[in-house]
Amino acid sequence: MAQPRSPDAPAQEAPEVVVVHSRRIACDGVGGALGHPRVWLEMGEADEVECGYCDRRFVLAGSASAPAAAESHAPGVYETSPGH
Ligand SMILES: [Zn+2]
Repeated sequence: MAQPRSPDAPAQEAPEVVVVHSRRIACDGVGGALGHPRVWLEMGEADEVECGYCDRRFVLAGSASAPAAAESHAPGVYETSPGH
């Protein structure tokens, strides 16, 4: 029998998640009230890191915690070029 679409989007509010392709990224916020000095964030062993200034969460693309098809270019995010 036909199943209705299961809603697998989380309902609770979560901080903005930004999918990135580098373990080392820089964030300087989204400007305005959320702008902040540029800081470099390193994931280290993890697949994600959170910006202490603007609370955005940066998740490595392809990792288990990366939301599928959530590739987006967020403002104020700077990735190092891969293979550097
Ligand atoms: Zn930030």
